[in-house]
Amino acid sequence: MINEDNQQEDFISTISHELRTPLTSIRGFAQTMLTSWDALDDAHKKKFLQIIEQQSNRLINLVENMLSVNKLQSFKDKLVFKSANANALTEPIVQIIQHQYKDHHFVMDFNKKIPSILIDTDKFQQIMTNLIENAAKYSNEGTTIKIKTDFSSSPEYISIKVIDEGIGIKEEDFAKIFTKFSRIDNPLTRKVQGSGLGLYITKILTEKMNGKITLKSSDDGTTFELLIPAENLEKQTAGVVKSER
Ligand code: ADP
Repeated sequence: MINEDNQQEDFISTISHELRTPLTSIRGFAQTMLTSWDALDDAHKKKFLQIIEQQSNRLINLVENMLSVNKLQSFKDKLVFKSANANALTEPIVQIIQHQYKDHHFVMDFNKKIPSILIDTDKFQQIMTNLIENAAKYSNEGTTIKIKTDFSSSPEYISIKVIDEGIGIKEEDFAKIFTKFSRIDNPLTRKVQGSGLGLYITKILTEKMNGKITLKSSDDGTTFELLIPAENLEKQTAGVVKSER
């Protein structure tokens, strides 16, 4: 019980901090625009609106992750599996993130022949958002982020890689990053906002969809690889709701 209470307190204090930072920024830029509208040139107005949009997107992602943790903890999360194309689901996510991280180069290296996958499309897009956003957050401006889809060495799965040229992750931290609220201390992590929930959720959701997530990393960057079951190997899981949606 004490443990649960502590966890709940941790959760609320992390989340409050994470919500407050973008909200303060949105309010600040909106107030500046309202009070100094005539004094601001168009370039500044555009810049401020971009920041407001960026921070709003951050809030939306954070709220989605918070709701997921809550549902994962209460086992209320039923996945709705359907047949889908990984390329078609990934492209709009890359476009949204590219819009927020204009100084990174994004490359979509998609194999158009990959088979369809059987997944919960919303959850799949949440996973891709977390991985691609992390690739941008933990790498410097001007670097390249490649999103590569392909057949995998095992015919049961397709492979989706998110490859960055960022700060890298030490092997001894590989297990830690997938646990709740964990962040690895380094100058870039201190600079960027984060709740430490993204990869925790990503791993659980990937495994619930019968997939796997692995990573490789060095000082030159990190590659996260998802293996997602190809559709013909449909696996029925207890609690899974099937839909033709
Ligand atoms: P958050 O980004 O909100 O802190 P995550 O659970 O998504 O939380 O990631 C946990 C930690 O793993 C991050 O704080 C960061 O230290 C590290 N990390 C995640 N992705 C990368 C990456 N692509 N490159 C380097 N470090 C990463």
